[in-house]
Amino acid sequence: MTSLTRRSFIGATVGAALSPSFARALPATVDVAVVGAGAAGIAAARRIVAAGRSVVVLEAAERIGGRCRTDIAAFGVPCDFGACWFYNVDNNPVARLGPAHGMDVYPASRGQRLRIGRRNAREGELEDFLAALVRCDRAITDAAAGKADLSCAQALPKDLGILRPAIEFYMGPFSCSRDLVEMSAADLAKSVSRNIDAFCRQGLGALVEKLATNIPLERAAAVTEINAFGRSNVDIATARGRLTARAAIVTASTGVLASGKIKFAPELPKRQADALVRLSPGHYERIILELPGNPLDLQRDDLVMERAEDERTAALLANVNGSELCYVDVGGRFGRTLSARGPRAMTEFAVSWLSGLYGVDVGSRLRRSHVTQWSGDPWIMGAFATAAVGAQGSRRILMEPHRDRVFFAGEAVHETQWGTVAGAWESGERAAAAALRLFGIGPKPQPQPAERRQPRRR
Ligand SMILES: Cc1cc2nc3c(=O)[nH]c(=O)nc-3n(C[C@H](O)[C@H](O)[C@H](O)COP(=O)(O)OP(=O)(O)OC[C@H]3O[C@@H](n4cnc5c(N)ncnc54)[C@H](O)[C@@H]3O)c2cc1C
Repeated sequence: MTSLTRRSFIGATVGAALSPSFARALPATVDVAVVGAGAAGIAAARRIVAAGRSVVVLEAAERIGGRCRTDIAAFGVPCDFGACWFYNVDNNPVARLGPAHGMDVYPASRGQRLRIGRRNAREGELEDFLAALVRCDRAITDAAAGKADLSCAQALPKDLGILRPAIEFYMGPFSCSRDLVEMSAADLAKSVSRNIDAFCRQGLGALVEKLATNIPLERAAAVTEINAFGRSNVDIATARGRLTARAAIVTASTGVLASGKIKFAPELPKRQADALVRLSPGHYERIILELPGNPLDLQRDDLVMERAEDERTAALLANVNGSELCYVDVGGRFGRTLSARGPRAMTEFAVSWLSGLYGVDVGSRLRRSHVTQWSGDPWIMGAFATAAVGAQGSRRILMEPHRDRVFFAGEAVHETQWGTVAGAWESGERAAAAALRLFGIGPKPQPQPAERRQPRRR
């Protein structure tokens, strides 16, 4: 997914040394097989291990973490190629696990800048932008209460004027990896707001990887077929052989599943196959620039947007974790078109965008750069799953088990926190609990204590 060579790619990921699992045969049988070692798969496997049942995580790639990936090879310091922010840290299950695993989770800086041409927005201008965002949020919520779903773009107030492109970028490509015109207002209205609250000093990808310690895991074991015809078993074919499980939890992205890389027997019901297509992942790529000497004169972890004039814009996260790295993030249609033009065009865009915003010749200050290609990664195929207009119900459809023992999990399978690590994690835990319950594995659901059954008082 990046311009690294295969050799450096393998050495690159923090702690992702190749396991001797390559030489090993897969287990013949397990209680639960988990497909995919991203946040959802790791969460599911941890839950199953905790219930005392056997599990194996089958991962197609040679590294684990999926869309969470901390690299150290490219710049010699931790660099998150994928997820880097913890949203809503107080309720974030992954952030909460950090300290107990020796990882430092630190609060994000409160400073957010809006550039207007070559200057920072004045306080009043920033207030106008934030007020417009609140108005747009409300308009989308109101639209979602209507009978028919609309696109988020249709739901926006018509009088946003000069702020419209910046608002559209912030709510669409930056927050959701897709343009608002392609997104369901009902789906966005249901999602919880994403407050960027915290970072992990060693990298969010490194933390997710650490949470997989002691979980039976097989790399380079792409699953090609899941056969659920048996009465009590699921037969799974992988690139490294076959195995039988009593249940399977599938966490591959909707992009991968819709592409047919995993064959289901019997086929998925049409409503689930349609749901995968209607929750297709958007596009979000990162251009990482190493800029020694802080030429933009920004603080650590400053987040900067511009009052853009059109869709050719980006978000800047500067001096990440106190380093010399700046992340320039692009998304949606513009991000897709730009990344299709290749790493050089992406880097040129980032350099010229920043030079324009700050009046500094960023090209002459650039030491090294790197770009991601998540949409081109054959095991990821996009950024995060947004719902097409009318498709909000698709997330619940994917929560239904297939033949009672194949469960879907992953960021797409969360109604309020889709597109996030926390949502992926929770969906994995939920699928694991469902698998354990359905097969009589693990503790049976306990009756609620009497007081819990009382209606809640407001
Ligand atoms: C650039 C970028 C920035 C992001 N920033 C943030 C952020 O700051 N904060 C945040 O909360 N979220 C962020 N996200 C979203 C977040 O990364 C994802 O929502 C989350 O990591 C998804 O986890 P998952 O387990 O659902 O899927 P994945 O991480 O995609 O895991 C699925 C795994 O399945 C594997 N797989 C696929 N097919 C097969 C197969 N056939 N057999 C076996 N294995 C297979 C894949 O290799 C992968 O490892 C970002 C995403 C991107 C791309």
